[in-house]
Amino acid sequence: MPRTPLPPLPSDPFEGLQQGCERPWEVAVDPFEVAPRTYYVGNNWVGAYLIETSEGLILIDTTMQPQVYLVFESIRKLGFDPADLRLILISHMHYDHLGGVRALHEASDAKVMISREDWAFMQARPDMIFDEGYPFGTFIPDAFYDEITPVTLGDRSIRTVLTPGHTPGTTSFFFDAGGHLCGLHGGVGLNTLGDDFLAKSGLPRSSRDDYLAAMLKVRQIPVEITLGSHPTQVGMMEKVGDIRPGHNPFLDPAIWPRLIDGRIAQVRALMGQAA
Ligand SMILES: [Zn+2]
Repeated sequence: MPRTPLPPLPSDPFEGLQQGCERPWEVAVDPFEVAPRTYYVGNNWVGAYLIETSEGLILIDTTMQPQVYLVFESIRKLGFDPADLRLILISHMHYDHLGGVRALHEASDAKVMISREDWAFMQARPDMIFDEGYPFGTFIPDAFYDEITPVTLGDRSIRTVLTPGHTPGTTSFFFDAGGHLCGLHGGVGLNTLGDDFLAKSGLPRSSRDDYLAAMLKVRQIPVEITLGSHPTQVGMMEKVGDIRPGHNPFLDPAIWPRLIDGRIAQVRALMGQAA
């Protein structure tokens, strides 16, 4: 039976969180392939990616705890078993990305990884997780990222790059899928870099310099398939209908530089610099 169309997403981030936690069915989408053996298992508002390897499954990000059942459902719809998760990689310490870790870890005993910087920050500043009072199962990471040694499971390998700014330990992911380089910037939001937020949170203004430096660093990476940590960042949902055999609508090397250049311009504006 055809489903009723999804309601429009609220533009305000708090309303997005509230909708996702209180009415998760309103953001449910079917999983889809973004690259060979690489799948979108997030929802209409926040991303999660499943990577199939010869030794089990890797998941990048987990959405929020009240909507994590959608991630389980998406993994199963693709024909996989959530119990086969071996690695859970977290992009950054905000609730919409790590709220589902506990449930997915308990279902699979997957190893959980986060950056050392964000783990320290979430211990020091749990108020900055932004769970807004919604249920959150704590967890202990099994390992931290290392820029020298990629994360490897079976025949897949993921390079992690520290890209601080949105949070102190935001991490971005780069990996091959069927001969094409996929890139996922772990957190491009400038919502944590405005004057008011920095003053309120007690974070240094140098966070903006960190953000800019990291953007300039990853700008050079020749990403061919850009995966949004939130799908709207790169218009992913509009392309789902265009997936067909022999044609991957996400394969477009122009998207990565466009995303990064846009954010560079925005952070420079925030810093009062000319672009
Ligand atoms: Zn965030």
